[in-house]
Amino acid sequence: MPPQRIYMDYHATTPVDPRVFAAMEPYFTEIYGNPASKNHLFGREARAAVETAREQVAQLIGARPKEIIFTSGATESNNLALKGAAGNIRGGASAQRNHLLTVASEHKAVLDPAGTLARDGIEVTLLGVGPDGRIDMAALKAALTERTFMVSVMQANNEIGVIQPVTEIGALCRSRGILFHSDGAQAVGKIAVDVNSMAIDLLSISGHKLYAPKGIGVLYVRTGLELQAQMDGGGHERGLRSGTLPTPLIVALGAACELCGAELEAESAALAVLRDQLLDGILAGLDGVTVNGSMDRRLAGNLNLCFDGVEAESLLQKVPHIALSTGSACTTADLQPSHVLKAIGLGHEQALSSVRFGLGRYTTAAEVAATVEGVVDAVKALREGSLLKGLGWKPDR
Ligand SMILES: *Cc1c(COP(=O)(O)O)cnc(C)c1O
Repeated sequence: MPPQRIYMDYHATTPVDPRVFAAMEPYFTEIYGNPASKNHLFGREARAAVETAREQVAQLIGARPKEIIFTSGATESNNLALKGAAGNIRGGASAQRNHLLTVASEHKAVLDPAGTLARDGIEVTLLGVGPDGRIDMAALKAALTERTFMVSVMQANNEIGVIQPVTEIGALCRSRGILFHSDGAQAVGKIAVDVNSMAIDLLSISGHKLYAPKGIGVLYVRTGLELQAQMDGGGHERGLRSGTLPTPLIVALGAACELCGAELEAESAALAVLRDQLLDGILAGLDGVTVNGSMDRRLAGNLNLCFDGVEAESLLQKVPHIALSTGSACTTADLQPSHVLKAIGLGHEQALSSVRFGLGRYTTAAEVAATVEGVVDAVKALREGSLLKGLGWKPDR
């Protein structure tokens, strides 16, 4: 019998929680009105469901319901936050504010819109991170100028799970009158996030990272903050995001947020136990393994390991029944190591020897044990192979 397949890639996406699916299902075939149709019952019942979901999302992050703007996902939310703020500031009274600060280890959904703004004449600073993956507050402070209009720093990293000092960043930005955007795609629903105590002005959320479906997300927009819409149309979502609201997806996101709020603490405690079993098991079976990024400021469900002398791509091929990720990007000819691993100072070879393990709501102890066994055996076999060929890894390294 082939081995049971194991999902260890919860940072890439999560399955929809069956409770979430049950909540959304009637909104496809029974309650199908357009939430913007104010004149009949069909529209009004859909509208009521959307507003309930808006309250559920707001509740999870300490926001007010009208500060929640539904989008298609965190990519769109990040684009709206960065380009929307830049567009508004350039058109407005403070045109001299043309500096954006973000971080080298951000997701491409922040780095790429920042790159677009740079080509449009915005000055962009990419702050580095330490070997632990965290930004240095003194360096951040030193990089701010009179012209900085926004700082964008993610809550938690999607590759190494490292949590940034968001409360300190928020306080600093608030004291300098600078907007603070945070990409919360990996954090919301996993760790406590509060837009007020963290002084966050804009927060991006992705449905499919917290057990809701793909194709739905949120941008939290603090009251009083103006953004330039990136989509023109019917003026939905306070004019910030035109387009008919996908009622089933929104209902699902609301339900998922409510579940996360209720279960977050117990879930992350349980995940930390499993994650530590995974790490301990691998370290007990192998030498030459290092953890990438801070171990104590980290999401409970994340592990990112460098296996000396082993190509991560080959390792993944050896355990095809386990869903893992390397973070590298395939360009036309060769493999590009992850920009996050490079940002924490890993060399080309170390970065290409690193693997991300993502645990989540349905990960079991049996799956963790099977992953330890599969990975330890595969790494041993790969290292033996390279020793036989007279290259690569030496046990005493
Ligand atoms: C997944 C992810 C995104 C993109 O979210 P989508 O909803 O898939 O567009 C952005 N940022 C981070 C940190 C992510 O993990």
